[in-house]
Amino acid sequence: VSRFESVTMAPADPILGVSEAFKKDNSEKKLNLGVGAYRTEDLQPYVLEVVKKAEKKMLEGGDNKEYLPIEGLAAFNKATAELLLGADNAAIKENRVATVQGLSGTGSLRLGAAFIQRYFPGITVYISSPTWGNHKNIFNDAGVPWKEYRYFDPKTVGLDFDGMMEDIENAPEGSIILLHGCAHNPTGIDPTPDQWEKIADLIQQKNHMAFFDVAYQGFASGSLDDDASSVRKFVARGMEVFVAQSYSKNLGLYAERVGAINAIVSSADVAARVKSQLKRIARPMYSNPPVHGARIVANVVGEPTMFDEWRAEMQMMAGRIKTVRQRLYDELSTKDKSGKDWSFVLKQIGMFSFTGLNKAQSDNMTDKWHVYMTKDGRISLAGLNLAKCAYLADAIIDSYY
Ligand code: PMP
Repeated sequence: VSRFESVTMAPADPILGVSEAFKKDNSEKKLNLGVGAYRTEDLQPYVLEVVKKAEKKMLEGGDNKEYLPIEGLAAFNKATAELLLGADNAAIKENRVATVQGLSGTGSLRLGAAFIQRYFPGITVYISSPTWGNHKNIFNDAGVPWKEYRYFDPKTVGLDFDGMMEDIENAPEGSIILLHGCAHNPTGIDPTPDQWEKIADLIQQKNHMAFFDVAYQGFASGSLDDDASSVRKFVARGMEVFVAQSYSKNLGLYAERVGAINAIVSSADVAARVKSQLKRIARPMYSNPPVHGARIVANVVGEPTMFDEWRAEMQMMAGRIKTVRQRLYDELSTKDKSGKDWSFVLKQIGMFSFTGLNKAQSDNMTDKWHVYMTKDGRISLAGLNLAKCAYLADAIIDSYY
């Protein structure tokens, strides 16, 4: 008899489980719109040219594989904070940014969560409803209590701004508010610049602290600066914030696990102490982060030609997604004779579209049409091409009514 007899089967992950189901489907029509990974117009995975170039340079340069320090690669940490805040940001000049390289967005959020559990015990983190499925797991496993604030309005398939503000207002003073820096996942709905100002006002007024999750910088609009503007607004006001970053999407480094946790705080002295404690959390978890992807980022950002090439490739990726978004909208609005307004598809930003399909309707998409997607009605437009837009529109319309 096994010592492990009492271990029960864990449920499939709601996002990664979609790809597993997709693989088992033998239909020629099948379409994987589950996981948020960029695909080419031929629906193939894509390694950025600039990444290949950086890797070639690294190989020729003969870089070694020695351990990194606990906080990660110094050139990466410098580059990542500068990309986030802008190189001439006062917080950087004043050494008020504590940056620790993490295991991509997930691992960086996890470090931040562990820090909150240790230094802000009992403080609740407020997350948007809905949010990226893993946020709840991350805070649960770190032992951090969380609650939800309203975000999505099913009636308009838009932002429930009043509900969001009311819930942030009613959260106990000093709470932590998790915000998606840009390209909200799963809805693709972001606050406007004016709404961001109001959110910042309220968070400041209530002595809350923002924890930004920035997983799509440069990938949402095609501009690194525009996509970081929410975070920069808060920092410009002198507010203290946590920011988790990921290079999975914007540099296509998914499996390399490259990201960072940044605490932007009120003084250099506080930053040094916070950084020392973040390192103390990382050490018993995984000792130090992987070097390869961090080196790619440092090389790409550190060399002006490669940096420009990266920005061009980001614009190309963001542009392809915008093109299929437009085509999907065109197909939906010509094929659907009911008069329904599909313009919400165009208003959404980033990799995803939140269709408004409920669980039963999403099941129909998969069971009848072989379209794989998460059951909250989210589709990844990065897994779609122009040729498949008409088919997808048929599937959505059939499932809606
Ligand atoms: N946050 C959000 C909102 C995301 O969508 C993702 C990726 N799906 C992540 C964080 C982290 O991804 P990764 O760990 O690959 O960087």
